[in-house]
Amino acid sequence: MDLDAFHLHPPDARLLEGRVALVTGATGGIGAATALELAAHGAAVTVDYRSKDDTARTMVEAITAGGGRATAVELDVTDEDSVIAAFATTREALGTVDLLVANAGIETRSPLVDMALEDWRRVIDVNLTGAFLCAREAARGLRAAGARGVLVFMSSVHEQIPWMEFSHYCASKGGMKLFMQSIARELAPHGIRCVDVAPGAIATAINRPVLEDPQEREAVLDEIPYGRWGEADDVARAGPWRASAQADYVVGTTLFVDGGMTLYPNFV
Ligand code: NAD
Repeated sequence: MDLDAFHLHPPDARLLEGRVALVTGATGGIGAATALELAAHGAAVTVDYRSKDDTARTMVEAITAGGGRATAVELDVTDEDSVIAAFATTREALGTVDLLVANAGIETRSPLVDMALEDWRRVIDVNLTGAFLCAREAARGLRAAGARGVLVFMSSVHEQIPWMEFSHYCASKGGMKLFMQSIARELAPHGIRCVDVAPGAIATAINRPVLEDPQEREAVLDEIPYGRWGEADDVARAGPWRASAQADYVVGTTLFVDGGMTLYPNFV
């Protein structure tokens, strides 16, 4: 994350002027890149943090110094009170959230027969229940304000591709897809659009064990027709258009940002 390089896009290129965004998991790889990209497009952005408050503060300073608007807030997406408080803080600081990026997520590896209930619950809690709590709060705020908005869910190619030893992760992302589509139908009549963004293999902390093992890193590469791992910016740059008025008719769909990974039916 090169914060010194942060600058707003030229006025004519900004897609999100006047919008208020809350990004969860905003100090992580894809979340940080997304928060910065939304800010560069003119959105006022809430950068959440759990423990990395220094990172969040530095991001807010960089955005502000570059002419944007941002605030930092502590948030645990699995905690209902924390979610409600984060949206209230954002409302006071920046206005009603009209662009949620439900990005916070975790993954752990475990064969089914060894999977502890605690591991299952933790992944479902962060990835799926966290998205539900944030979506509900965003929708409540928009309905109360009578405003339009967009809810973006950071899903995964594993909303579609089964993945051995990551069944809880796949359940969370597959669940996210139908959750998103169901609420897309509910909320569309109110001018609230819901979409998924589904990254493939992106070089972030969540993949550190794979990236650090040359054999595993290459094995993943074999599954990517485009011939390279993705970067957090690849995902971040795919978001603003879908969240903007330019994409006003895009409802309930998934955008795969995966270098073609979903074209492999034999992925394991
Ligand atoms: P990352 O580990 O760098 O970031 C994850 C972020 O989520 C961190 O900032 C972490 O603090 C935050 N988080 C975890 N638990 C939280 C909680 N309870 N409350 C609030 N925040 C919490 O990983 P990433 O690659 O940037 O992943 C971001 C999202 O993208 C995840 O949902 C992940 O499933 C998804 N994704 C990633 C990849 C990939 O290859 N990196 C591929 C597909 C999907």
